[in-house]
Amino acid sequence: MTALVDRFGRRFPYLRLSVIEACNFRCSYCLPDGYHAVPGRPAPLTLAEIGRLLTAFASVGMHKLRITGGEPSLRRDLNQIIALAAATPGIRNIAMTTNGVRIDQLAGWRRAGLTAINVSVDSLDRERFKGITGYDRLPSILAGIEQALGLGFHAVKLNAVLLRGRNDHELPAWFDYLRTRRISLRFIELMQTGDNLDYFHRHHVSASALVADLQQAGWQELPRLADAGPAVEFTHADYAGRIGIIAPYAKNFCAACNRLRVTATGDLRLCLFGTSGTPLRPLLQSDADQAALTASITTQLGLKLAAHALHDGQTGITPHLASIGG
Ligand code: SAM
Ligand code: SF4
Repeated sequence: MTALVDRFGRRFPYLRLSVIEACNFRCSYCLPDGYHAVPGRPAPLTLAEIGRLLTAFASVGMHKLRITGGEPSLRRDLNQIIALAAATPGIRNIAMTTNGVRIDQLAGWRRAGLTAINVSVDSLDRERFKGITGYDRLPSILAGIEQALGLGFHAVKLNAVLLRGRNDHELPAWFDYLRTRRISLRFIELMQTGDNLDYFHRHHVSASALVADLQQAGWQELPRLADAGPAVEFTHADYAGRIGIIAPYAKNFCAACNRLRVTATGDLRLCLFGTSGTPLRPLLQSDADQAALTASITTQLGLKLAAHALHDGQTGITPHLASIGG
């Protein structure tokens, strides 16, 4: 089997597949005015197209899939997508990132074959959560997360985007939350996208202050595993949970890149902030095109750059992360 390796020696066993661009939340850093369909935009990939895409990626070494969006749980055939991934030879981990709006469907996702779940929880305070996401959903989401802990997932993770003046003082509450729960909390540094420049300037805060706070509270950085992604993880003997930090503006962040992305309409994206995408959809119409599909993926990978240019404000063609899946 050909493995996906780029010209800098990075391996890509991990695919993030957006299955829908639409979302029902209005996260202030992502879709502050809600999702508006782009006129003329084709429908998301069908089950058959997704099946061919997954087979091709798995044949060149992809073994971890993340289903994302938009909000993936808005897809009516989500269980079928998960089951399709679970039935694809080579795919061992099937994770999903969700805002938790349909977290009551969790047991069904698990039964269909989902192995890990990330739920976005930007605040543990109900009013603040509502202020950031536009939805008063925190209690049901937290209840769903409790349920997730009993369903045998390999990992239950929470994502919180770090926002100056909005949720950057909640560390003590998170410590309490993580004391007894085997959950990995990921703080994500706010990223600039095409649409959020003013917001970014108002609310971006570097994760370095957070790292200092964690170290002062006795949290210890874990050694990085060879195939680990870009999160730096911390543990503490007094807490069952872990804390990870995803700091895209940190030096060498891209050196650990191990993922490729495909948008909901089937464009291959080599980087969150790249300047182009390659339409794979024409090659997803027939099983006969599998060889051409894998050839296209490997050829494109040869063009992947060493790093993004986010430090210079270059956000590429990504207006917001709902358009690509984060
Ligand atoms: N709707 C799902 C959700 O929110 O979990 C999945 C898609 S969302 C685009 C994936 C992740 O990207 C979420 O954890 C979200 O908080 C994060 N995100 C969105 N915009 C971001 C930005 N500008 N900077 C950093 N993280 C962002
Ligand atoms: Fe929707 Fe996720 Fe974007 Fe929030 S971060 S608006 S939940 S896509």
